[in-house]
Amino acid sequence: MIIHLPQRRRVAHRWATLAALSFVLFGCLSPPAHYYEPHELKNLRVVWLDQASLHEQYEQMSGKPALALYGTDSSAGVQSVKGFFDFRTNTIYCSKMDFTACGHELHHAIIGYFHPEK
Ligand SMILES: [Zn+2]
Repeated sequence: MIIHLPQRRRVAHRWATLAALSFVLFGCLSPPAHYYEPHELKNLRVVWLDQASLHEQYEQMSGKPALALYGTDSSAGVQSVKGFFDFRTNTIYCSKMDFTACGHELHHAIIGYFHPEK
């Protein structure tokens, strides 16, 4: 017991030195840059609806077609509105399980601008 005591104390001292040293090293490092951008949306409304109803609603509100043809004869397709955000009523219209469209419109609601008109 008498022999082991100083040894234990030396080990403890070594750990204390190491801890102090590591604290100094960490203190010198710049803290990692965490991205943190809070937003609070007031009176945001969300309407979940099926695609046919969504298209009807969009055409009624915007006066524009919800479906549009694009491309050339060889590679043509139909582009359809998957969701939209109405700035006047602060309302997101999207399909319940379409996380991409709902997320996209939420982004518009936060940022507050439309896509540039083509
Ligand atoms: Zn958009």
